[in-house]
Amino acid sequence: MREAIHVIDEEIVQLPYSTSRDAVENYKKLANKSLYKCPYCEAKLIVKFGDIKGLYFSHQHSEACEESRKIDRAEKRYEKQNERETKIHKVLVDIIYDELSIKAKINPNVIVNYGYKANPSYKYYPDISVKVNDRAYSISVITNVSPSQDSKLAQDIINRHEYFVEQGLEPIWFIEMKEQSIELEKNSMVLWDAELAISAKTKEDERWDRLIEENMKDSMFFKYFNYPSTTLNKEIDVRSLYYIFSTEDKLIVKVQRFLKDRIVRPYRAFLLNRGYEISFSEALVIDDGFKLSNPDIDLQLRNHFNEILIQKKKEHEEQLRQENERKQIHLKELEERRTSFTPSEENFTYSDLKVLLKHRIGLTQKEQMELWSKYMLSSVGPKNSKLVWELVLEHDCHSFNELKAILDKRKI
Ligand SMILES: [Zn+2]
Repeated sequence: MREAIHVIDEEIVQLPYSTSRDAVENYKKLANKSLYKCPYCEAKLIVKFGDIKGLYFSHQHSEACEESRKIDRAEKRYEKQNERETKIHKVLVDIIYDELSIKAKINPNVIVNYGYKANPSYKYYPDISVKVNDRAYSISVITNVSPSQDSKLAQDIINRHEYFVEQGLEPIWFIEMKEQSIELEKNSMVLWDAELAISAKTKEDERWDRLIEENMKDSMFFKYFNYPSTTLNKEIDVRSLYYIFSTEDKLIVKVQRFLKDRIVRPYRAFLLNRGYEISFSEALVIDDGFKLSNPDIDLQLRNHFNEILIQKKKEHEEQLRQENERKQIHLKELEERRTSFTPSEENFTYSDLKVLLKHRIGLTQKEQMELWSKYMLSSVGPKNSKLVWELVLEHDCHSFNELKAILDKRKI
């Protein structure tokens, strides 16, 4: 039975893994004075020292109470759940735990515990469980993730997320990601399978919702950004993801917001910006829920987004203007070619006649077929296209009906 962390005079003391002979004796003496109590059954604890376990607490006569055995089993299951995580996982969880413990000390409405200790009977454990007034949060850290990760892990993460929601917790996920799939030229982001499910919805995301809602009234919105939207008319849902990076001396949270879009694989989202970085302690500020953002930066980014949008609109309008200009020039060239069209005398074909009639009397496909079958193949003769054109000019003919009248008369 290992009891590493115990509450003594409201201080949390973690026994060092290995320690000197003197220190061991000292701890044992303190234990004999009934200084250490089991936090669950309040029984007096003794201190033991072993080669493998190091220094640890134990109930007397190794008779662990039911509660502490339950916690012990929960801890083992928690360790199994985290088998795939890298070494940094525990470091990150401990940093978050310490950060929140400091907050809990100055704010009695905040209660922090490790997930497996807070609810040992849970099916899945968050790394940390936090209560703020009447709201409960689950904080989980996932390490060792890349966008091409297998879908089994994604499903496992989604199951955990849904389970926490079922238990009445508000899940918060921190992702240690090696790379992000961002296509800047398309303002798009390809999400890892689980990311859409574990993304958060904060007050700042709601502020972004309102900005996007306003701008989406312009049906060209996604075109400006060269973004291949699949859900133009669906609800506007801005969400956020929290990536963890460690720099030389501190932990950084990267706040990445996106507009939810493609909800089948590959999950694609409209990128609102390239994200921004805040310190861990800033992310964990409690202000009617976890802040997880810097509202000043978000405000700046929204203003910047509007500026970019105006710029993109201008560029788009300029592009349209240029395209239109090119189209006009092209039409003019076509027109000139048509009017100056003069088939050579000796090679005047039915094709030449068609082009000339199309231009002069707006000959339709249907009329052309009638001309061919009713006249060219009978009274006129298929090789006499030039004759027909001469008749058109001679009678100053301006419609197909006029032409037909002339040809009919000629037949008689
Ligand atoms: Zn106990």
